[in-house]
Amino acid sequence: MGNIVAIVGRPNVGKSTLFNRLIQRREAIVDSVAGVTRDRNYGKSEWNGKEFSVIDTGGYIKGSDDIFEGEIRKQVELAIDEADVILFIVDVEEGITPMDEEVAKLLRKVTKPVLLGVNKVDNAMREKDAIEFYNLGLGDYVTFASTSGSGTGELLDALIEAF
Ligand code: GDP
Ligand code: MG
Repeated sequence: MGNIVAIVGRPNVGKSTLFNRLIQRREAIVDSVAGVTRDRNYGKSEWNGKEFSVIDTGGYIKGSDDIFEGEIRKQVELAIDEADVILFIVDVEEGITPMDEEVAKLLRKVTKPVLLGVNKVDNAMREKDAIEFYNLGLGDYVTFASTSGSGTGELLDALIEAF
C-alpha cells in the first residue's frame, strides 16, 4: 500500500500505451459490486528499487466527439480517491483541448501530487510545442513518448519522487 499512481487524461493521449510499458504483470480486475463497470486496469511496476501500483483509467471510453465528459470526470474523481499520485497525460500532437482543460480544472483543486506528462513528444520540434501546456495551470511537465519509451525514465524519476 501507499504507492499508487493513477494515469488519467482524455481518450487517445496514450495512457494505455504508457501503462503497458510500465507494468510488469497485470492483475485481474476484481469487482464484487454488480453493475459497476470497473473501467480500469491495475498493474505493478518498479523503478530504482521502488515498487508502486499503476491504475490505467478510461479503458471503455471511446475517443469520439460525443464523449460525455461526465464519464471522464468520474474516472478522474475515482483516481483522486484511490491514488497517492495522479499522472495527468496530455498529447502534444493535439495540443490543449477543452477536455484537457476540464481535467486540469479538477486537478488544480487536488491536494495530492499531480504530475503532468506530455506524451507523443517524438522529436525536438514537439519538445517546443509542449510549452503550451504551461497554460493548464499545473506548473512544470515531463515530456516523453510512450511508443518509443523516450523520456519515460525521467517521467519515472519524477513519479517516484512524488510518492
Ligand atoms: P489512451 O486512450 O489514452 O489509453 O491512448 P492509447 O494508449 O490507446 O493510445 C492512443 C493512440 O496514440 C495509439 O494509436 C497509440 O499508438 C498512440 N500513441 C501513444 N503514445 C504515442 C507516442 O509516444 N507517440 C505517438 N506518435 N503516438 C503515440
Ligand atoms: Mg486506454
